Amino acid sequence: MSTTAEPAAGDGELDLLVRRARLRDGRVVDLAVRDGRFVRVAPEVTEPARTEIDASGRLVLPGLVDPHLHVDKALTVGHGTAWPEGTFQESIDMTLERRRSYTTEDLLRRGREVLELAVAYGTTALRAFADVGTVGGLRSAEALLALRDEFADLLDVQVVAFPQEGLVRDPGAGALLVRAMEAGCDVVGAFPWFELSSTHAQEHLDEAFEVARRFDADVHAFVDDEPVAPQVHNLEQLALSTIAAGWQGRVVASHGCGLASYDDHLAERTIMLVRDAGISVCANAHVSLVSKCEHASQPIPRGITRVRELIAAGVNVVTGQDDVADPYYPFGRADMLEVASFLVHTAHLYRPEDVEHGLDAVTENGARAMRLEDYGIREGAWADLVVLDEGSTATDVLRLQPARRWVVRRGRIVATTETRREVRRGRG
Ligand SMILES: [Zn+2]
Repeated sequence: MSTTAEPAAGDGELDLLVRRARLRDGRVVDLAVRDGRFVRVAPEVTEPARTEIDASGRLVLPGLVDPHLHVDKALTVGHGTAWPEGTFQESIDMTLERRRSYTTEDLLRRGREVLELAVAYGTTALRAFADVGTVGGLRSAEALLALRDEFADLLDVQVVAFPQEGLVRDPGAGALLVRAMEAGCDVVGAFPWFELSSTHAQEHLDEAFEVARRFDADVHAFVDDEPVAPQVHNLEQLALSTIAAGWQGRVVASHGCGLASYDDHLAERTIMLVRDAGISVCANAHVSLVSKCEHASQPIPRGITRVRELIAAGVNVVTGQDDVADPYYPFGRADMLEVASFLVHTAHLYRPEDVEHGLDAVTENGARAMRLEDYGIREGAWADLVVLDEGSTATDVLRLQPARRWVVRRGRIVATTETRREVRRGRG
């Protein structure tokens, strides 16, 4: 064994060597991997490796991160789905109706399909939301916990126990939330916005933080989910609850849409509280665009939180796929580069330095929101990465939506995609 701090040089064959990898800062380096971790990031590594990838100067990102995906709802709509009203409330009602008929087999089948898509598109860590409540009980949580174990060699899954029907509005859900955490869920979900008064929203948060304390778990709360509701202040309540619980840095807020409808003075103060509470904000702009505002009068609001102001204040801003072919959003393919593209479009992030925030949101910032340890392309970190077929800048990556040529998790190739594009000119 090497006794110096020099990482693992000369310890025999490497498990993986990624040659000529372009990093976001423009350096082209070799990435040497042993025992699932980067042991050398250097201009040239000469040690032999069991597996080699020649990235040929392609951009390499750390594994993509999706901090918000409803795995139990995924792929529940398609051909034959009726949306008579096309309202947000209808989406909520349809989900509730479907949850009555979830079977474990159905949850596992749809879950496998969406998690495999995520891996193929380069995601190596995601938060899977499992609805917990008196409708459906623990069925979703149990299925997602089984999937977490089944997919453990492909990606990190954190299962969120999520009280989708509320805690005050759904008597009995609180006890189920505790049971879901006892069964092994990783994160306590909260949905104060769904309660019918701010008093109940606070009771909901108090109960969720009590469970979080009991299980020493992080919290992921849905707040201010109404696009135009300047009177709803769940985000402020969440920030104050976070500080009171001493949970700074351990809380994510989705989607905070209402923040956009506050007057600027109030929004600024709320953003300062969110920053002080160390809350990450998960925007999921594409879902709001599609399913939250369509019945408003013109000009139609977009239902997207104040992304630029949050970033400017130093808040950790992330985004998640949220929904894949479910009653809230019939599109999506668990592709975080597509999701990042929606974020930069809707948040007016188009200058080169602004677009970097789009890639940060689905890599480093996502890792921070999920509190992933040893994340990133650096010596000592886990060797989770994705090699992109095209594009060397953030703007070009989001513009071109390149194929994920190789996806590597803990030093093992877990997915590959090859594409072939040909333009035939002339009349021949
Ligand atoms: Zn969601």
